Amino acid sequence: MMKRLLQWFGRPEIAGDDRDRHRVILLNGVTNAGIAFVLFAVCGNLFDRSTPLRNYLIDLLTLVLFLMARQALRLGKLLLAGTSILTLGYFAVVASIASEGTVLSPAPASLLFVIIGAGIFFEAIGIVTSTVACSLTVLAFMLAQRAGMLPTPDYSPKLLHWFIFTLIFALAGSITYFSNHITMQAFTHAQKELLVRQHTERELKSANEELQQRVIEVERLQAELREQALHDPLTGLHNRRHLAEILSREIMLARRKKECLSILVADVDLFKSVNDTYGHQVGDVFLVEIAQLLKRSVRGVDIVCRYGGEEFVLVLPGTSIEDAWKRGEEIRRKCAELIVQHNGKELSVTLSFGLAGYPAHGEQGEEIIMKADHALYDAKRMGRNQLRVWGMPNRNSTHRAQAAIGQSTMGA
Ligand code: GH3
Ligand code: MG
Ligand code: MG
Repeated sequence: MMKRLLQWFGRPEIAGDDRDRHRVILLNGVTNAGIAFVLFAVCGNLFDRSTPLRNYLIDLLTLVLFLMARQALRLGKLLLAGTSILTLGYFAVVASIASEGTVLSPAPASLLFVIIGAGIFFEAIGIVTSTVACSLTVLAFMLAQRAGMLPTPDYSPKLLHWFIFTLIFALAGSITYFSNHITMQAFTHAQKELLVRQHTERELKSANEELQQRVIEVERLQAELREQALHDPLTGLHNRRHLAEILSREIMLARRKKECLSILVADVDLFKSVNDTYGHQVGDVFLVEIAQLLKRSVRGVDIVCRYGGEEFVLVLPGTSIEDAWKRGEEIRRKCAELIVQHNGKELSVTLSFGLAGYPAHGEQGEEIIMKADHALYDAKRMGRNQLRVWGMPNRNSTHRAQAAIGQSTMGA
C-alpha cells in the first residue's frame, strides 16, 4: 500500500523529448507541493475552531483539483495538467487579492507564479497570454477598488505576505537554476554530439582512405595479373594470348595504311637433344638468351612472342617480305653465333625460320601464321638453320630465295 502510494507520488516515466522530461519534473514538484500545502492548510484550520465551513470546502476542492492534475500528469497529458495547475494558481491569487480587499498588497505579485509557470509550459505564447491576463486582472481590481466594489480595504502587512514574498524569491531562484541547468545540459549534449560526429567523420575518412588504398592495390594487382596473363614467365616475352589479341588489330592498321606486314615464325633446331644432353636448365638458358637476342634485333613497333615451347613469332608491321627476310636472316646468323657456357664447354644452337606476310599470303593473322609455320616446316625439312618463305620453291641457296622474294613482294 505504502509502496503504491509512494509510486503514485513519484515522478512518472513518460515518453517524450528533453523538454517534456523537464515539464514532468516541474509538474511533479508543483502538484506534490500543492497537495502538501492544501493538507497543511487543512491541519491549520482544524486548530482554529472559528474557521468557516466554506474554507474547508475550498481546501477540499483545491485538493481534488491537484489530485486530478497529478492523475493527468501520470497519464502523460502534460498540457492538460499544466493548464489545470496554471488556472488553479491564477484563481488562487485572484481569490487572495479579493479576500485582502485591496490590490495594494503583495498578493498581486503572486501572479508572477502564473506568468513563470505559463512561460515554462507554453513558452513565448504562454508568457504573452499570461502577462496580458495578469495585467488585465490587476487593472480590473484597481478599477473595482476605485469604484469601491471590493470589500472594506483594510490592509496591514501580515506574516502571510512575508511568506508570499519569500516564495516568489525562492521561485525566481529555482527558475534561474532550472534554466541554467537546462541550458548547460543542452550545451553538454551538443558538445557530446559534436565530439561523436567528429569521431565518426574521422573514422569514415580513414575508412574511406583505406578503401581507396585497397582499390588502388586491387587495380595494381589486376594490372599485374593482366600483364602476367599476357607474358611468358621464363623469357618475359609476350605470349600466344597477347599475339591473338593484337594480331588482328595490326592487320587492320596495315590495311588502313595500305602497308605490308610480315610474320616470322622461328623454332630452335633439335632443341630436344640440347635438353637431353645438357639438361633442361641449359635449355632454359638458351631460351632466355634467344628471347633477348630477338628483342634486341627488332624495332620498338615490332612484336616478339613466345609462341610455344621453343617456338617464337615475330610480327613486323610496315615491313615487306624482302625486308623481313633480311631481318630474319640477320637474326638467324646472330642466333647461330650465340654461345652458352656450360661445364667449360661453349654450346650453341641454330634456329629455322618460316616467313609469310600480309597481303601477299593472306588477309587474316591466323592464316598468315599458318603459312609461315608451313614455311618453317619446309626449312626443317630442307636441313634446318635456314629461312623459308611461304610459297617459294625449295631451293638450297638463300640468295636464290632472295630473288624469288623480290618477285613475290612485287606480286603482292
Ligand atoms: P626440331 O628441330 O624438329 O624442332 O627438333 P626439336 O627437338 O627442337 O623438336 P621437338 O618438338 O621434338 O622438341 C622440342 C623440345 O623443346 C621438347 C621440349 O622438351 C623442349 N621444350 C619446350 N619448352 C621448353 C622449355 O620451356 N624449357 C626447356 N628447357 N625445353 C623446352
Ligand atoms: Mg625445335
Ligand atoms: Mg617446336
